[in-house]
Amino acid sequence: MKRAIFPGTFDPFTIGHYSIVLRGLSIFDEIVIGIGHNQSKKTLFSIEKRMEIIQQAFADEPRVKVQSYDSLTIDFALSVDAEFVLRGLRSVGDFEYERTIADTNRKLTGVETVILFTESEYSYISSTVTRDLISYGKDISAFLPPHVTI
Ligand code: ADP
Repeated sequence: MKRAIFPGTFDPFTIGHYSIVLRGLSIFDEIVIGIGHNQSKKTLFSIEKRMEIIQQAFADEPRVKVQSYDSLTIDFALSVDAEFVLRGLRSVGDFEYERTIADTNRKLTGVETVILFTESEYSYISSTVTRDLISYGKDISAFLPPHVTI
């Protein structure tokens, strides 16, 4: 059984995240979406709401699970017996950060990171811009996975 975690803050989970998980399902048998939950980090959506959005998105996909965690991401991977970390790469701006974390995690535990390039139609979508639009009352349904309402 090949299991990966897909870790992130997901404030909120967007159609860009959704697309990475769907594509990841052709590589992995199971993907555990891990919502990083840091008490000191202020988020727009509560941990319960972030979890509910992801559950709605994958209601018909039993190979996708969702959990929250407040530890190091790599410790979360080990705690769910995942040998892989799945991440998405939007731009060169994401690259150095992702490489540093991936190298550190592999050095510490042997867990490999698998990075998928974002589909170009989603590469401009970010949780940050989605939150900004929400705060100005805009309709952001096109930025969310299908069948998700917030
Ligand atoms: P983090 O705080 O760990 O960066 P995010 O919730 O912002 O968490 O992102 C989680 C993962 O999803 C990261 O690998 C990020 O690069 C990827 N990601 C973010 N937005 C998109 C997008 N539009 N398309 C594909 N991947 C994305």
